[in-house]
Amino acid sequence: MRSWLFKVVLISVATLGSVLTHGFQANAQSLFLPVKTDVHGDVGRWDPCSAIEWKIGGIRNNKYFDERVRSSVNQLVQATGLQFRFAGIASAEETINAPLNTLVVSLVPQLASSMVGGTTRLTYSQGINESLVITGATVHINARITKGHLRKHLTPVLLHELGHAVGLAHVDDASNIMYPRAIKQKKYTVADVANFSVFGAVAGCHPVKN
Ligand SMILES: [Zn+2]
Repeated sequence: MRSWLFKVVLISVATLGSVLTHGFQANAQSLFLPVKTDVHGDVGRWDPCSAIEWKIGGIRNNKYFDERVRSSVNQLVQATGLQFRFAGIASAEETINAPLNTLVVSLVPQLASSMVGGTTRLTYSQGINESLVITGATVHINARITKGHLRKHLTPVLLHELGHAVGLAHVDDASNIMYPRAIKQKKYTVADVANFSVFGAVAGCHPVKN
């Protein structure tokens, strides 16, 4: 692994209840907030001009989960213009550390708290002019929300975590998919898509320095 490759461990959660389990502060002045910005204030994001793959992992034989993940990633592609190409089943190791230029979405038996719907961890590499390029995203989804009455949370949590996976942090507008608590929407809204534009294909090529 090259020396300039570094990782940001972020507990990016969508909580199922009213308890906010982490301290990421949203800024009421911002339409969107990036997870991380570079020294120039530009957002950390994927390079839309590089091949990006996505894999599914964790607990297998859960058709309900697999279908929802596929449709949610399709929504993400539509909303961002980033081309995530399906690359199969992730290995156990890949569910913990996403391979280079890969998004891995996994169903996991438990998270730090049973109230947490999902977490996302991003890997950044250094781009040109000290920019930050996302080069990996590891999403974990709580298996609890594929069962019973909690199932209604699965798609909203997936859409929320995938928002983190392209570089967005939280907002305090409860109608936005990046609101940190229990959310209900099953589709990205016009406002969500507007926020994604800074992180997506229309922002232009964003290559890693090499
Ligand atoms: Zn979150």
